[in-house]
Amino acid sequence: MIVAIDGPAASGKSTSAKLLAKELGFLYLDTGAMYRCVSWAVIKDEIDLSNDRQLLNFLKIFKIDLKNTGNRSSFYVNNKDVTDLIRKSNISQRVSEVSAIPDIRDFMVDIQRNYAKSKNCVMDGRDIGTVVFPKAEVKFFIIASDEVRAKRRKLELESLGEKKSLSELIDEIRRRDDFDSNRGHSPLKKAFDAIEIDTTDLSIDEQVKLMLGIVKQKIIGNKK
Ligand code: C5P
Repeated sequence: MIVAIDGPAASGKSTSAKLLAKELGFLYLDTGAMYRCVSWAVIKDEIDLSNDRQLLNFLKIFKIDLKNTGNRSSFYVNNKDVTDLIRKSNISQRVSEVSAIPDIRDFMVDIQRNYAKSKNCVMDGRDIGTVVFPKAEVKFFIIASDEVRAKRRKLELESLGEKKSLSELIDEIRRRDDFDSNRGHSPLKKAFDAIEIDTTDLSIDEQVKLMLGIVKQKIIGNKK
């Protein structure tokens, strides 16, 4: 079974997806983290995204690994642990541009489909219910107000030692959503059969309980 969770930046997708997967005993994949990993490497290697040959050579040696230990998912790029580095602002500022490149998306979607092949998996991102797994059994589209999303992002950045004002973060989040929604390849879009959940006034527990109830109903329905 695939549970696809999409939605705009910092809407609470990853937090709820991770807990939902734990409750269900499913695998969990944060595809946003994967696009952040490739962005980190693009910046580090100073890849010119308009140079096709350079990009393809870069992808040939790009290796991404995920290690789950306890509650923590760690991401490695060519054997370097980049888990905290990919959450920083310099990555958030470039990730939409990098993830709009078709060759990069095709590369990532292959990995995502293989990861979940014949398995139970909760996957979150922007195009999971529309492109990666259009036949996912359950699809959620998670939204929240801009202010609440910026506050969540602010807390995440503070835990990494970075300080930014709420208004700066609201601008950054809006800019990223706008870019992600208007790109040509796999834009951020609610699948027609996705269930929308507004997490603005929900605690994490309430969010997860609501989603868990919906998935369990589906599992019961499948058994009938
Ligand atoms: O989920 P997160 O905010 O970490 O995602 C970072 C960026 O990765 C998004 O703004 C988007 O540009 C890109 N992304 C994507 N497709 C996905 C997941 C993320 O294009 N499935």
